[in-house]
Amino acid sequence: MSELYSDAYALAQDAADPLRALRGEFHIPKHGGSEQAYFCGNSLGLQPKSARRHVEEALDKWAMEAVEGHFTGQAQWMPYHELVRDPLAAVVGALPSETVAMNSLTANLHLMMVSFYRPTRERPAILMEAGAFPSDRYALESQVRFHGLDPATDLIELQPDEADGTFSMQAIERAIAEHGPRLALIVWPGVQYRNGQAFDLKEIARLGHAAGALVGFDLAHAVGNLPLRLHDSGADFAVWCHYKYMNSGPGAVAGCFVHERHARTDRPRFAGWWGHQQSTRFKMGSEFSPTPGADGWQLSNPPILGLAPLRGSLELFERVGMQALREKSLKLTGYLEKLIRERLPDTLQIATPGEPERRGCQLSLRVVGGRERGRSLFEYLATQGVLGDWREPDVIRISPAPMYNHHADVLRFIRTVERWPQ
Ligand SMILES: *Cc1c(COP(=O)(O)O)cnc(C)c1O
Repeated sequence: MSELYSDAYALAQDAADPLRALRGEFHIPKHGGSEQAYFCGNSLGLQPKSARRHVEEALDKWAMEAVEGHFTGQAQWMPYHELVRDPLAAVVGALPSETVAMNSLTANLHLMMVSFYRPTRERPAILMEAGAFPSDRYALESQVRFHGLDPATDLIELQPDEADGTFSMQAIERAIAEHGPRLALIVWPGVQYRNGQAFDLKEIARLGHAAGALVGFDLAHAVGNLPLRLHDSGADFAVWCHYKYMNSGPGAVAGCFVHERHARTDRPRFAGWWGHQQSTRFKMGSEFSPTPGADGWQLSNPPILGLAPLRGSLELFERVGMQALREKSLKLTGYLEKLIRERLPDTLQIATPGEPERRGCQLSLRVVGGRERGRSLFEYLATQGVLGDWREPDVIRISPAPMYNHHADVLRFIRTVERWPQ
């Protein structure tokens, strides 16, 4: 029996973890009186305790000041989205002027495509991954149709070339070379939601641009999970949500990046008053004049109650930084991987790439024996307070989030699988 498997080892790792205190900043759901082992940060991150304070502050301000709340105090509502701008830009590696919190992920994807998917007769097509998150596929397909084009020819879905549905960089490169002259846009994930594969965004943007296409990223599973350098990646735009690894609550206000080179673009966009030049917004003129940068894509005055938890979450990201989170994440997910290979090879096969640089914190685990057996294990884990999530037909996703998961959680997962009566 390896020493990794002992309580002493797990506890010593946690005691030596410089981020161990962060767990105390979160509400950990209970199961039968004790804390769950929660591995669903890829789906809904846990609630930072500070979220309530920020929401209550907004509620109190509304109760006591009503319309005046737009203009008073440090957290006045008029520029409220600016409170999150700098820490959010740091999380995604962008300039503050390239970053905005607004709307939801899918809405932002549509807004970005209005500006950055401009099909022509020569270049009508979008390249995306086959097996993308359905909302992304629906959005892209509907945009192709919106332009009067046919998804059968103009929405190109690249099939994975590796076992477990992952992509080699060579396959992406070949596809861009093959379809390049017809491509208007490439939309690619930062981390694939089903199998957890992480991609070299800079390389994909480079290849796409060299082929004459624009490049946008969906970072739903990458933000707060991996250190990102969006500005340096050269991407034209990116979108993401804040309820997964960003811990900002169900349906939280989402994020959007527009590269500096498009800050003053005259591309078409769908406009709203919050994207208008701040200096003249309240002159209420009839001509739209966009404010430079990502802010120029805003439509509406933001939902303050929806943005409030993001402030609490970003305070934690600001305190520790993505680099330290990634260092811990490499250890934690590496620990999970080693224990699965050592203890559970007859039960679980890892479908996520084995190279740490090709994944974030999530491991997608295929249950040997198929769907029935998989469901049975998944349900047993839940009865024991060990929460992963299920992906048809036979995959359990386990995402140790470095913000709040400990080595002891990982060991508990392994032991619970071993105790599964089958
Ligand atoms: C979570 C997720 C979504 C969800 O979209 P919403 O607009 O936030 O409901 C979309 N795309 C991907 C890739 C996701 O992981």
